[in-house]
Amino acid sequence: MPKILDGAAIAAAIKEEVAEEVRALAARGIKPGLAAVLVGHLPASEIYVRNKVQACAELGLFSELVTPPATVTTAEMLALVAALNRRDDIDGILIQLPLPAHVDSKALLDAIEPAKDVDGFHPVNSGRLLAGRPALAPCTPAGIIEILKRSGIPIAGQHAVVVGRSDIVGKPTALLLLHENATVTICHSKTRNLGEVTRQADILVAAIGRPGFITPDMVKPGATLIDVGINRLTTREEFDRFFKGDAKREAAFAKRGSVVVGDIDPRALELSGAYTPVPGGVGLLTIAMLMANTVRAAKMRRGL
Ligand code: NDP
Repeated sequence: MPKILDGAAIAAAIKEEVAEEVRALAARGIKPGLAAVLVGHLPASEIYVRNKVQACAELGLFSELVTPPATVTTAEMLALVAALNRRDDIDGILIQLPLPAHVDSKALLDAIEPAKDVDGFHPVNSGRLLAGRPALAPCTPAGIIEILKRSGIPIAGQHAVVVGRSDIVGKPTALLLLHENATVTICHSKTRNLGEVTRQADILVAAIGRPGFITPDMVKPGATLIDVGINRLTTREEFDRFFKGDAKREAAFAKRGSVVVGDIDPRALELSGAYTPVPGGVGLLTIAMLMANTVRAAKMRRGL
């Protein structure tokens, strides 16, 4: 039986450690602060940002929610970021993506003061990550490393295959695994004979954005499977493809009209030595690592 890598338990442990650090900083008169910028009214983004603000309250961080309308211009957003950069009570600035198409996302992310870039997307932080220098690393990739380490899964010397090369997940995950001394292969949509490559993985990270894309024949039995994908299934046909006969999910589907599946086919998970479930795996680490990054930014800015 594969071991299930419990994202909830690991996220809770990290949050407890962060809360402890926040208490220690409070004793020195420091309260780390996060500004979350949510443009417009995208329902998914609203949920993500609400959860982030709530996590700040739970752990004793200051947070401020800034909510410009969907009609905001790039110039107005740049002015907003500049103001947050100047504020001493704000240690972390988070701009919830995606932004409306008329707003220049790259220009905005580049305008965030690197020391306050708690998402770790600024090129300065990407460069530091590449060079193996202390950096604010992107939250989801950092969470993946925490899951592996805290679950006692060896990384050094293992062959890690990362499917996906986005700046947010795939690339930084590959770099962090490399810094942990894994032998890393990065795959993408132009990779030839993908299954041949993924079958060599001791640790397989799927960050693709396609439901159940990694099938059982693409997995080496006993491998550790890290599933980053979050894909919502809304049709009966899609549901049956993955979950036919699963009474628990059937009830959820009937109630909500959708269920979530990762990038790894649930049948492939059964072959693994250990895997992260979806939901309940990697996704839960992202907010915990954002909190950890905010506290880290607060300390680094003060030279602590
Ligand atoms: P992107 O769309 O930015 O990147 C997807 C990557 O998958 C690309 O590099 C793409 O290759 C690759 N890919 C697409 N099709 C194939 C294929 N047929 N074969 C091999 N590779 C392929 O997605 P993200 O990295 O932002 O996100 C990936 C998934 O992770 C999504 O489901 C997203 O929802 C989820 N996610 C989850 C988070 C969490 O907190 N758990 C946080 C962020 C994302 P190419 O570059 O060649 O196009």
